[in-house]
Amino acid sequence: MSEIILEGVLFVALVAAVGTLLYLVVLYFTPVGVRLRQTRNRRRIDRAADLVCPIHGPRAASDLVRLTSGETLCPDCYKEIAHG
Ligand SMILES: [Zn+2]
Repeated sequence: MSEIILEGVLFVALVAAVGTLLYLVVLYFTPVGVRLRQTRNRRRIDRAADLVCPIHGPRAASDLVRLTSGETLCPDCYKEIAHG
């Protein structure tokens, strides 16, 4: 009985290892991987740019104010807009 369970566990581990290997090969040795990395780079830079207020400078993500429209705003800009 324990051999069957062990065989099942080893088969699942083999499938996971082969899947991981395929994923890494696709990610690092194909044009698809380059495209995915370029997309990740764009998102990372966009996220970093969203944290910089053009007037008040860089802000921490936890300090930003989320508007009802879903956009985020620098807390100082929000104070100026909402309370004058
Ligand atoms: Zn601001």
